Order: sequence, then C-alpha cells, then structure tokens
Amino acid sequence: MTISKSPVNNLVDQIQRGELCCVDVVAQSLAKIDKMDKSINSFVSVLHEMAMNRAEQLDKLSADEKKKMPLLGVAVGVKDNICTKGITTTCASRMLKNFVPMYNATVVDALLNAGAVIVGKTNLDEFAMGSTTETSVNGITHNPCDSERIPGGSSGGSAAAVGAKMVEVAVGSDTGGSIRQPCSHCGAVGLKPTYGRVSRFGLVAFASSLDQIGPITNDIRDAGKLLSVISQPDSRDSTCAGKPFVDDQSLYTSDLKGLRIGVPDEYFARGLSDDVRTSIQKLMDSLKGQGVELVQLSMPNLEYAIAAYYILCTAEASSNLARYDGVKYGFRAEKVDSLDDMYAQTREQGFGSEVKRRIMLGTYVLSSGYYDAYYLKAAKVRTLIAEDFNKAFGTCDAVIAPVAPTPAFKIGEKISDPLQLYLTDIYTVSANLAGIPGVSVPCWKSPDGLPIGVQFLSPKWREDVLMKIGFAVQNIVQ
Ligand code: GLN
Repeated sequence: MTISKSPVNNLVDQIQRGELCCVDVVAQSLAKIDKMDKSINSFVSVLHEMAMNRAEQLDKLSADEKKKMPLLGVAVGVKDNICTKGITTTCASRMLKNFVPMYNATVVDALLNAGAVIVGKTNLDEFAMGSTTETSVNGITHNPCDSERIPGGSSGGSAAAVGAKMVEVAVGSDTGGSIRQPCSHCGAVGLKPTYGRVSRFGLVAFASSLDQIGPITNDIRDAGKLLSVISQPDSRDSTCAGKPFVDDQSLYTSDLKGLRIGVPDEYFARGLSDDVRTSIQKLMDSLKGQGVELVQLSMPNLEYAIAAYYILCTAEASSNLARYDGVKYGFRAEKVDSLDDMYAQTREQGFGSEVKRRIMLGTYVLSSGYYDAYYLKAAKVRTLIAEDFNKAFGTCDAVIAPVAPTPAFKIGEKISDPLQLYLTDIYTVSANLAGIPGVSVPCWKSPDGLPIGVQFLSPKWREDVLMKIGFAVQNIVQ
C-alpha cells in the first residue's frame, strides 16, 4: 500500500516549508509545456508572463498566508470553456475566438484563492460537443501516450496535459462524459461531481441540466483535494447546492472490506472490447480478493440512455447557443444585407458543423408537434434511468462500469460518422442524466500499452465513496 503523499500534497508541503518556491514550480511546468505541447497541442493559450508574475506574488506572501492555501504554487490548466477574467475563453469556436471575459468563473476564483497558478487554457471540442477533441478551431489534440490517437473529449486538452504531466491538475467540464472519458484515454483520474456540487457560474453553457465542472489529476487524492476547493457555495448559480466536499484523509486507507459494488449486466454486455473487459475483470477479481462484495444487477433503462441524452443535450444546447447572434458579444459576420442576414451569416460562419448539427437536432426535438414525441419522452426516460440507479443503490454502495468501449482510437477514425461517435458515450451519459457523481480511474493498460479507465458511480453527494474505492484501485493497479 502506498503511504507516500499525493503529488500535489507533496508539492504544496515543500513550498509551505520553504524548500521550493512557486516561481520554480511554475517555471518548470511552463518549460514542460513549451517542450511537449508542440506535438500534443493540449493548450489553446499558455500564460507565461501572467503565471510567472503570480508565482512571484505568491512567493512574497507571509508563511501564515501560505499555510492557508491548499493549492499554493500548483500549476493548473483550465478548460477553455471556463471564463477567465482578461484571458480569452474561446470554447474552441470561431464564435468566441476573441472573447475576453470580464469576470472569472467561480471555480477559477476558488482556485486562485487557494493559491493555484493558472498556466494556460486547455483545448476542447467546440463548445464541449464531442468525444475526441477533433472539432476544435484550434486544431486537434493528440493523445500523449500515442500521438496518432485521440485524447478523448471534450476535455481532451486538460486530460492530455495532466496525462503528460505538463500540469499536475486541471479542470474540465462533463456534460455526458467529457471529464471521465478523456481521462480514461490519457491515463488520468477524472471526476464528475454530483450535479449541483460545483458552481457552474462562468462555465459556458452547453446543456445546463447536465453540465458539471470537475477535477482532472494524476492521483485520486488530488481529485478530492481539488473538489474540496472548487465545491464552495455560490449564490450566482441557483443550481449550486452549497454542499462543499469534505476531503477527509481517512478515506484514503485502501480498506474496502464489506463494501458492495454493483455490476450491472447492461454495462458489460456486447459492444465492450476485449481489452477493456479483460482489464476491468481483472480488477473485479482483485477487489473481491480484498473483501468487496460484487452484486450482479440489472438496470433495464440504460439501453435508452444515449437516445435520451442526445435529445436532451441538443435541446438545451439549441436554447443556450441562441445567444450567439453577433449582437451582444463574440464573432459578427461582415458584409451582410440586413439584420436577419447578419444573424444567419454570423451563425453560419461562427459555428462548426457539429455545433450546427446539434442546434438543428435540438430545435427539431423542441418544435411543436415533435416536443411530446421526443423531448418529453426523453425527459421521462431520464427519470427512469435515475430510478434504476436509486434501486441499484438500495443493494450496493457504488456501481462499476467501463468508461469507454475501447481504448483511444486513431485520429480521424470516427469523426465522419457522428452516430458511431455518439454511441461511444454509452457508459458515461447516464451519470449526467441521473445527476450522480462518477469517477474514472486508470485500470490496467491494453496489451499494446494504451490506457484504460474504470468507472465508479455512487449515489448523489457520495463522492467520498468514489474517493475510497479510487484510492484502493490506484494501489491495486500501480
Ligand atoms: N461526448 C458527449 C457529447 O458529445 C459528452 C460531451 C461533454 O460531456 N461535454 O455530447
């Protein structure tokens, strides 16, 4: 069992003891980015000057002030759909290419108050719509483990940056798997918190009832630490529950005796690749050996999760993205004939094809005549899926699942077939539909050395269970 400290705790301790200074730590991260990111392209912008200035300021603080900062000097990457005051927030879209927010997202303020240093904004699929980070106007991000492969998405930039250890921590957003899936492909830990745990103020909205910001790290304990920092109450987001996560160190003991983990048949049915199945099966055997009780169960409505998700998220996206009209902010088309033409040209030129596809689909499912058949039905299915989980959690403490059907595939392999791509989200979207937390932790790699993540899902507000299991898994797999 590992008793060593997590990378972030170790770093912060050293800085607080005066053995390291923030300037050196941040400079080291920036140097790694300069060296590695030309080929990976995980950052949309790198904030050399700003980060170094801030590190200098932090070094000047008194020892007492430093003691109060749980992320003192920690270099962080922030997904580029999370607003940063004075720093472009592009959403990887032409529509927001020059958008400079006048305010910080609540999570950004929380990170800064904790002493973190933002070293850059990370790449994503345009408006977080995608699973591969191939639809970014800033170019494709490459998987740090194999540059011919996708890093996953949409938080592919954050996951690749952490996986390659250019930064120890990053934040991403997860609407249907965008934190967990890229972490699975890049060998990182990714946590989607309970809906309402973390403020969404300043997160550019994709599908508001599903979106949630969460941590991406190399160690489960650092995910817990980061979550405790970013899960503060916030009156600026009415869906923020004001229930901060308490990062109790006694969670990290590796003792899982008596824990019941549900294994839904539907998550291990056909469609799952042998590589992923073998890796997770081996883990289940080890967990059993440690006294975990595996509970076989069925969640019959999971079958409809993808269909429901893609109706609901596109419906919400079509409404959320109506604000990009060329009037208020963002891109505006030139050489137009009329106001209507300006709206049309702005949206035609400003959005990429995946975003347009979703706006059209979303508008369709919300239109009168189709609303009952699609949107309303999907909303009902959502409730059924939440009930499946409630029932499952009556007999187990957490559920185990794959994160993605296969390890990372090749760049270009699926991008021209949206339906195929949507289907790869099969294991992640249900947590967002049900509002429950989910974590992806590295499991054993595939025979050809590609990372494979394993997912654990728990009842709402029980991220502590995920931390506990995640820590044990981390120790088993290391
Ligand atoms: N891949 C999913 C989608 O394209 C999830 C995206 C996300 O979580 N932001 O909708």
